[in-house]
Amino acid sequence: MRARFSHPAIDHRPGTEVVAVLPGPELLVTDADGQVRQVVADRLVLATGAVERFRPVLGGDLPGVHPLGGLQTLLKGSGVTPPEPVALAGRGPLLWLLAAQYAVLGVALSVVIDAGRPTAADWWAALRSRGDLVRQGLGFVVGVIRRRVPVAFATAVDAIQRDSRGLVVDAGGRRWRTATVGLAHGLRPDLALAAQAGCALDRDPMLGGWVVRRDACFATSVPGIHAIGEVAGIGGADLAWAEGLILATRLAARPPPPDALRAWDRADRFRRALAPWAADGDDVPDAPDAALGCVCEGVDLGRVRAAVAAGAADVATVKLATRAGMGRCQGRYCADTVAAIVHARTGRWSPPSTRWPIRPVSAAALAAMGEVGDGG
Ligand SMILES: Cc1cc2nc3c(=O)[nH]c(=O)nc-3n(C[C@H](O)[C@H](O)[C@H](O)COP(=O)(O)OP(=O)(O)OC[C@H]3O[C@@H](n4cnc5c(N)ncnc54)[C@H](O)[C@@H]3O)c2cc1C
Repeated sequence: MRARFSHPAIDHRPGTEVVAVLPGPELLVTDADGQVRQVVADRLVLATGAVERFRPVLGGDLPGVHPLGGLQTLLKGSGVTPPEPVALAGRGPLLWLLAAQYAVLGVALSVVIDAGRPTAADWWAALRSRGDLVRQGLGFVVGVIRRRVPVAFATAVDAIQRDSRGLVVDAGGRRWRTATVGLAHGLRPDLALAAQAGCALDRDPMLGGWVVRRDACFATSVPGIHAIGEVAGIGGADLAWAEGLILATRLAARPPPPDALRAWDRADRFRRALAPWAADGDDVPDAPDAALGCVCEGVDLGRVRAAVAAGAADVATVKLATRAGMGRCQGRYCADTVAAIVHARTGRWSPPSTRWPIRPVSAAALAAMGEVGDGG
């Protein structure tokens, strides 16, 4: 892929972050040197992927408790494994992928706890669309069980505690002692740029919650902006790859490769079949009031629930009332939780909203740019 980027028609800028999409479309990007630059485009393709979902768990903020994707990135990026034994809990393919990777490496696992409850019909639909991936996933599960790792299916974590001997995971009336816990709550589209660009969003709990609305040609509601991959719904790498091929050929006024269209169709049917197991849909967080809802600002669920009960009817009002979402991550992780609690009371979902710059930029770099757009 790197070799393809060396094509003279491609201006590849690794290490560059987009911090704003302004009308045009015009991008504001930060280079590795921290400078902010403007890039004007005829067309923009948003392919910002997904981020891990955060769900409150009592004790989820204790030292030794990590997001499961973070543990996997640590393993893939640096070959680092956490203190053992490790308990992995939650839902989705990453749970069993990491469990299998750890098992093969000889990392001691105290338990794997899978909260998903797929029906026979879900499995049948998944098998028919991507039997190869289902078999691969079952291979992970069998590999873990063969190593005599305790597993619990259809079980959610109730609480995590710490005592002098380490961590204790409570789930479904049973307890497991461990040194590290990895929690997986699935993925959700990374909508920071799409929302900031004003793209219309739809709510589809089976595809990760809010997703970018697109037409059949992957065009968003904003002229000149397309969206591909997981920003338009969680679906895996094969689906994202197929969408890239389809859009690239369409933008070049050529017919999309039939293989890519077939791969897209199979991947789409597969993700929909898998969703009841992999995604926790629109579940309202059922963790107790003491569980942290906003980790950055230390706001527990009790305070969020009290604000909503007192009349806060959207995420922005809860933020003003409690500071949930005011911290460094700007609601990237907690806004989903707050939105679910608001929805449970009002029946309305607050769509995500972002203002630029979507990532921290120094005031000096912004000042050096002069006047740009509006709304910052
Ligand atoms: C933590 C985690 C671990 C995963 N592990 C696996 C795995 O082991 N195996 C597997 O098959 N799938 C894994 N997946 C899923 C897999 O990554 C996706 O299915 C696939 O990569 C989706 O492709 P995409 O093109 O939509 O997004 P991605 O491949 O995620 O690409 C999106 C890119 O956009 C970049 N980006 C986002 N915002 C900006 C911005 N403002 N400026 C500049 N760049 C930006 C991101 O840094 C990223 O490089 C994982 C996903 C996550 C979140």
